[in-house]
Amino acid sequence: MNKSIIPFSRVAPMGRELEYVRQSLDSGQIVGDGPFTKKCQELLRARLGVPAALFTTSCTHALEMSALLLDIEPGDEVIMPTFTFVSTANAFALRGAKPVFVDSHPVTLNLDERQLERLITPRTRAIVPVHYAGVACEMDAIMEIARARGIAVVEDNAHGFLGKYKGKELGTFGALSTLSFHSTKNFACGEGGALIVNDAALAERAEILREKGTNRSRFLRGQVDKYTWVDVGSSYVASDALAAFLLGQLEAEARIQEARRKIWQTYHETLETWATANGVSRPIVPAHCEHTWHIYHLIMPSLEKRQALIGHLKERGITAVFHYQALHASPMGRRFAPDQSLPVAEAATDRLLRLPLYNDMSDDDLGRVVDAVKSFR
Ligand SMILES: *Cc1c(COP(=O)(O)O)cnc(C)c1O
Repeated sequence: MNKSIIPFSRVAPMGRELEYVRQSLDSGQIVGDGPFTKKCQELLRARLGVPAALFTTSCTHALEMSALLLDIEPGDEVIMPTFTFVSTANAFALRGAKPVFVDSHPVTLNLDERQLERLITPRTRAIVPVHYAGVACEMDAIMEIARARGIAVVEDNAHGFLGKYKGKELGTFGALSTLSFHSTKNFACGEGGALIVNDAALAERAEILREKGTNRSRFLRGQVDKYTWVDVGSSYVASDALAAFLLGQLEAEARIQEARRKIWQTYHETLETWATANGVSRPIVPAHCEHTWHIYHLIMPSLEKRQALIGHLKERGITAVFHYQALHASPMGRRFAPDQSLPVAEAATDRLLRLPLYNDMSDDDLGRVVDAVKSFR
């Protein structure tokens, strides 16, 4: 039998992506802020009901813009989960701030809100929750702690677009939030992201930072008669051809989320007995959280078992991967605070495994993964 390799993740058109990319290329105008960028931004803005959504080159860059917008300075402290992608920390470290790492909540692997209070100092400027796997952080507790002390909240919402906490959209809690359209995310254009601006007072400066510190956006709207350098900034504007692909994805929201829901639930239901028998934990989604079907992960009993299952799947042509390496234990993280022990995140670093999950995964391939996992002891 000639079985193809099942990738961990891939990007597939789910709607009108190719037609839109063709239109964009045919127009000869693929520079940023063209018609497709405007449509994506308006769709995101309306979908989330927020003052502004800006399409950017990446979620990493949207996080960097957040640090600039909050005037983060050397010596400032920014609290974030240790179990996250490096960009969450880098964006603030680039401005000279010290990332302060929080251990993970044992149920959701999100930043453990019960540990926040004792990490706050007079230098704390921001809290950056990451809604891991699209399952909400405990936003009531986080927002209350932040509000009481005048600390900004920036949601790294790379996993959580369309997820909800107690009925409210993720990414609409903090002053700012960020989205990723990287290839591995639910909605993708290869490389891309968005800055969501909830605090309207930050919207105009956000446009300026994104346009290399110029007031070009105001000029394009006819609000000033020439554009010039008015602030710091960088080049955070992505090609309209990427926005064309992304628009097709965003418009296919229902199909994409339904496809992922089906895969996620199939894993969850069919692996239950196997997981219980083998000491494996499956994801837990609290009842007040609507998640996004972004990641299906298993927590294996040990690092050895995790590596053995990855190998077992690889032998059967299936690509499974581990995930974040807790930042506090990394060479760079240790420069900020050496010798920290954050045991829940360390266990996830060693024992977590992600199964293949992508929008056009076939039923056959899904069945192959389930059978292969179930045959592992
Ligand atoms: C993917 C991801 C990012 C970075 O996204 P890019 O668009 O690749 O820059 C940041 N934070 C988290 C939590 C992510 O998963």
